Amino acid sequence: MKIYLLDLGSLVIDRSDVLWHIDVGTAVRFPVYGVYVDHPEGKFIFDTGYDLDHVNKVLPFELPEQTPEQTIPAQLAKIGVRPEEINYVINSHFHFDHVGGNRFLTNATLLTSKLELRSSLVPEPFERLGYSDLSFYTRGMKVEYLEGDVELAKGLSLFQTAGHTIGHLSMLAEPEGRRPMIFAGDAAYTYETLDRMIIGGFHLDPIDSISALKRIKAVAKQHDAEIFPSHEMEPWLKWKHAPEFYGA
Ligand SMILES: [Zn+2]
Repeated sequence: MKIYLLDLGSLVIDRSDVLWHIDVGTAVRFPVYGVYVDHPEGKFIFDTGYDLDHVNKVLPFELPEQTPEQTIPAQLAKIGVRPEEINYVINSHFHFDHVGGNRFLTNATLLTSKLELRSSLVPEPFERLGYSDLSFYTRGMKVEYLEGDVELAKGLSLFQTAGHTIGHLSMLAEPEGRRPMIFAGDAAYTYETLDRMIIGGFHLDPIDSISALKRIKAVAKQHDAEIFPSHEMEPWLKWKHAPEFYGA
């Protein structure tokens, strides 16, 4: 199993949205990335970034920076993979900054929970902006519904971390020759989130969001795994980016 981190650009939010109510008025630029897993049992992508046109149109205040290289097709091209070769796409959740590249994965089966899909299609008013890019879903596409924690392939699994959204999922990968890796998704934006146990400013349920942080820590302890938060620039810049990879 080889694990590639795909650089999909960056956005800006207020620090009070990163750490609930703290440092209001401080802008923070954060990375957006996807994870491509090349596994003997299939090719998987976890999160696909944002669509630049969508953000410019609907959320321009997030000041998107995305070069033509920072898209799913261009990132996969660095590894010699075509988007139509991807077998499965999983989104930690369906917010716009995690689904924008799904439309390129034309042969992939979407793996999701019914709850997350329903919430994105019929959002509460305060969730409308988050769920504003529905380009990931078309009638007739291949969808498989997940329930609970799921093993995707040997050494690759999803576990439930609802709170940020109703069906949020995090991913555990256990590549050979490397410490296991947890991709937290937006259940943990940053290491500070985990250290201080302070959730982000956006959440469906703050109590569940704290439980999700506890769960991530528990799974990390159980597997001696390294946690990869979703949106923190400094560690992101130190991680290996595609075409470099983790595992063997
Ligand atoms: Zn996000």
